[in-house]
Amino acid sequence: MDVDITSSKFSYTMFKELAQFMELKEQAVDILAVVISVLPINSFTNEFGPGKVQDFVIINEENIPLQLSMFNKFIDIEGQQIAETINNFPVIICRRLKVKFFNGVTLSTRLDSTILVDPPAHEARQLKIWAGQNALLFSQIIKEKSYTRYNPDLFLQSPQKFTLIFYLQPTQKFAWVKASLSFQNIFQRYWYMACKKCYKATDAFHGHPYLCNKCSEYQEAVPRCRFDVNLADNTGNVTATLFGELAEKLLTYSALDAMQYFIRNVELPLEHVHEALKTKLFAVQIQPAQSRYGYLQQRYTVVHFYEENQGEENKSPSTSICINMASNFDETDNLGVTSPLASFETAQISTTKKTKLA
Ligand SMILES: [Zn+2]
Repeated sequence: MDVDITSSKFSYTMFKELAQFMELKEQAVDILAVVISVLPINSFTNEFGPGKVQDFVIINEENIPLQLSMFNKFIDIEGQQIAETINNFPVIICRRLKVKFFNGVTLSTRLDSTILVDPPAHEARQLKIWAGQNALLFSQIIKEKSYTRYNPDLFLQSPQKFTLIFYLQPTQKFAWVKASLSFQNIFQRYWYMACKKCYKATDAFHGHPYLCNKCSEYQEAVPRCRFDVNLADNTGNVTATLFGELAEKLLTYSALDAMQYFIRNVELPLEHVHEALKTKLFAVQIQPAQSRYGYLQQRYTVVHFYEENQGEENKSPSTSICINMASNFDETDNLGVTSPLASFETAQISTTKKTKLA
């Protein structure tokens, strides 16, 4: 286990700076945080075989809760140690974590990560004292599960750089565009039947349990909102897909509503939405989506959006936003948003050769 890192001061990455390291295979970050919640262990099987993952909710003085996923060996030792001392605000120093995009920013262990629980470091003691003074805030976070939601604070810190649509590159992981939105001329249905847990599309009947081949367990089939919008600025336009609550927010209907209209073969009344959109400008965060069927045009997924002419205080959505599940939909496959397990395992393989704990 590391000894030297506690004696020599090392610099941590602030949570607000994490977004820039997302999905970069060669980049890892070091953080200092207090663990405020231990979530259950989940088993999974992917192309590399069976494994297990456990999520921990962490926070620091920035007051932004994040999820840290520990894989396999970390669960048995460091995870166990954290679970046993969870009521005493365990402080952790983590080195070489991977930054991922999954409903916002999340962190996960790599094979070569190091986790120190309650290390005898000055900063760790300071953070523990801070934690003791903020127990109420933590219980609120745990109750509201705010750590599972997209947190715009993690993306909007630095002055945003907007890209003109003409200059969008499919190689860009994320881009912000300032655009008008419209979908009046796109003929589409606004929902698909999905696994309640992983959102993969299914033919199962609404409300019926079925064996989801992605989850490898019985799940309920529920309608999920999904539709395409056209994003336009002065330089061009591009099509992007919205999913889940983000889609419902723009549509002003729930997926269940959309499904019921569809079943009755009645067109969804959307005039008021189309009219309202004509006068609005949005800041939209998008990421490239890869199509299996070879669409001629590059497609995108909307990760987040807010109305441009609204005040600062309205930028953060008040409702929970569930995003990025495009990769689970049959027709699209996101480049950047794969399951946290898949991308982790890729990282594991790529770092195996140089694995050596400091
Ligand atoms: Zn599923």
